[in-house]
Amino acid sequence: MNIKNLSNILKDEPKFRFKQVNKALFVDYISDWQEVTVFPLALREKLESNCPLYINAKLVDSGDKKSTKALISFSDNLSVETVLIRQSDGRHTVCVSSQIGCPLACKFCVSGSIGFKRNLNYFEIVEQFLFWARYLKKEDKKIDNLVFMGMGEPLLNYDEVLKAIKFLNDEESFNFGARRISISTVGLAKQIKRLAKEPFQVNLGISLHAYNDSLRKELMPKAVELNSLREIMQAVDYYIFKTNRQVMFEYIMIDKVNDSLEIAKNLAVLMKRPLFMVNLIPCNSNENYNPSPKKTINDFAKVLSDKGVKVTIRESLGSDISAACGQLAKIDN
Ligand code: SAH
Repeated sequence: MNIKNLSNILKDEPKFRFKQVNKALFVDYISDWQEVTVFPLALREKLESNCPLYINAKLVDSGDKKSTKALISFSDNLSVETVLIRQSDGRHTVCVSSQIGCPLACKFCVSGSIGFKRNLNYFEIVEQFLFWARYLKKEDKKIDNLVFMGMGEPLLNYDEVLKAIKFLNDEESFNFGARRISISTVGLAKQIKRLAKEPFQVNLGISLHAYNDSLRKELMPKAVELNSLREIMQAVDYYIFKTNRQVMFEYIMIDKVNDSLEIAKNLAVLMKRPLFMVNLIPCNSNENYNPSPKKTINDFAKVLSDKGVKVTIRESLGSDISAACGQLAKIDN
C-alpha cells in the first residue's frame, strides 16, 4: 500500500474528494479503488495505478482461532508480525509491531533474538491496523483495542509511534479513541515523561518483570543499562501526576526465576501505589525459560492482592502459533 501520491492525484479535484477518500479508506476500509463507485472511472483508475491499496500479508491461523497472526511485508521486503486476538469477552484486540526486530534483546523474548533491522514508519504501523480492520469488516466486526506489544520497543521509535497514534485518532481518518490504545515499554524514563505531556490519553504499560535492578538485569540487561528502576518509577510518578491515569505493570511469571512468594512480597512493596496495577503474564516457553505453574501464579497474585495491590492474570492466547507475547519473530528477515 502506498498513498504518498494521494494529495498530488487529488490536487485538481473538488475539495470534497478528500473527505470521500478518507471515508473510503479509513471508515469503509476499501481495499480496491473500484469500490468507490461515487468516483468517476478515470479517477478510480488513476488512483489504482498511483496509490495501490494492496497490503502484502500472509495469514497464519491458530488452531483454536482465538488469535490470528499475519506477516506484513513492506517495500524493502522486510516484514513484521501483527496479531489479532479474539478475547473471551468478545472484544478484538490488535497487537502491532513498532520496529523490525528489537535492539533490547530481553532474554525471555524471541523478538530481540533476531536483532534489530529498522524502525517502522508511522504508516507501516497504521497499515497493520488497517489490515485487521479490513479483515474484521468481512465478519461485520471491528477492532476494539490496539496494543503496541508486538515486535520492537515503541518508545525507541517515539516520533513514528506518536504519528501513527495521531493518525488513527484523527477524526478525519480512523477516529479510533486514544483510550483504546496501549503502549507497552521496557521503561524509558525520558520518553515516559514526554508521553505524559502529549495530548493523547493512551494507556501505558511497563514491562517490569522484576522488583529490583539486579534480577531485572539478568532478564533485560540492555533495558536496565538505559534506565534503573528508580528512574523508571520517578518517570511513572510524573506520568501519573500529569495524566492521573492508571499504569499497568506487566510481570511475566517465569518458573523458579521471579515467581517466589518472597519476591511477591517485595514486589507488593514497590507496587502498592494509587493507580498502579500489576498484570501477571504466564511466560511463553523458550529455550531458557518456562512458565510458572498455574498454582504458583495464583499464589503470587494472592500475596499481591492481600497486600492491597490491584492484580490481574493475563489470558495468554496464541501460543500454538507463536503469536503470543514475546514470540513474534520473523526468522528469514
Ligand atoms: N518492548 C516493549 C513492547 C513489546 S511488548 C515491551 O517490552 O514492553 C511485549 C510484551 O510481551 C511485553 O510485556 C513483554 O515483556 C512480553 N513478553 C516478552 N517475552 C515474553 C514471553 N516469553 N512470555 C510472555 N510474555 C513475554
